[in-house]
Amino acid sequence: MTLPVAGAVDQSWPRTLLDLVGNTPLLRLRRFERADGRVRLYAKAEWRNPGGSVKDRAAAAMILDGERLGLLTPGTTILDATSGNTGIAYAMMGAARGYAVKLCMPSNVTPERKRILRAYGAEMVLTDPMEGSDGAIREVRRLYAEDPDPYYYPDQYSNPVNWRAHYDTTGPELLAQTEGAITHFVAGLGTGGTFMGIGRYFRDLAPHVRLISVQPETALHGLEGLKHMESAIVPPIYDPTLADEDARASTEDAYTLTRRLATEEGLLVGISSGAALSVGLRTAARLDSGVVVMIFCDGGEKYLSERFWEEPPEGSFVGGVN
Ligand code: PMP
Repeated sequence: MTLPVAGAVDQSWPRTLLDLVGNTPLLRLRRFERADGRVRLYAKAEWRNPGGSVKDRAAAAMILDGERLGLLTPGTTILDATSGNTGIAYAMMGAARGYAVKLCMPSNVTPERKRILRAYGAEMVLTDPMEGSDGAIREVRRLYAEDPDPYYYPDQYSNPVNWRAHYDTTGPELLAQTEGAITHFVAGLGTGGTFMGIGRYFRDLAPHVRLISVQPETALHGLEGLKHMESAIVPPIYDPTLADEDARASTEDAYTLTRRLATEEGLLVGISSGAALSVGLRTAARLDSGVVVMIFCDGGEKYLSERFWEEPPEGSFVGGVN
């Protein structure tokens, strides 16, 4: 299988699960746009991937790479650290391709995620919630160092195939879907794969695009999937010099905007999408004109047990024009 590339959309019936990865829609968020209509806002609907998140792209590419290199063969177990979405992607694709999957993750990931992983038959190694995703990284390194033989350890934080998946697919899709009109690109940083891959693609093919990364404002935050780099193990694939701007999002703004996306646009998305929107709105507010594109990494279903859904949807977002 090859990951689909924009412009070469295969209209035939999908043959395997991996053929469903990528080519996600780009949605216009008119209700969040400025009244003067001079700045258009778009969201890349990454929850439309078969595993429900942007991480399907990286996981598919790393699994295919492992097979190609002969590191992933029948009987091998896929092993990695993940805050959730990469794990779901590995678990789903492992089931489809006949591999066992073992995942290290903080024990406080939402119950919905654990249930999804169990449904796909993945094994979970739960780590100290106080250590966040860093605790999971330390545990996977320990397990692999102890006995590497049974495992294929893609190491999403260090593997260039992670960002390459976005250079090869998400970047070209965005350029084609905006017909080259994109002026600002906004994406959160977890492993950094999404931002680095799309960012490098724009640097090479559309260098006028301004690259804006999104991190949590503080070390302790509720922006699941995103990393506060100053206080975390910095992923080797992340290069801080790529971004034109390294923006910060607060958990409160992200919660408010995540709720508003559901009630005002009918989009039930994850919290990191709210965080991306908070930065997208701030960016739009200061432009004369432009086309701002944000990556909405996953859907909201996995977060429904979180308390913030019980707050009123309007909240108080103070960072932008709305
Ligand atoms: N948002 C969510 C919900 C995620 O799960 C992730 C992946 N950790 C990201 C954003 C960031 O993606 P990346 O790892 O490509 O930086």
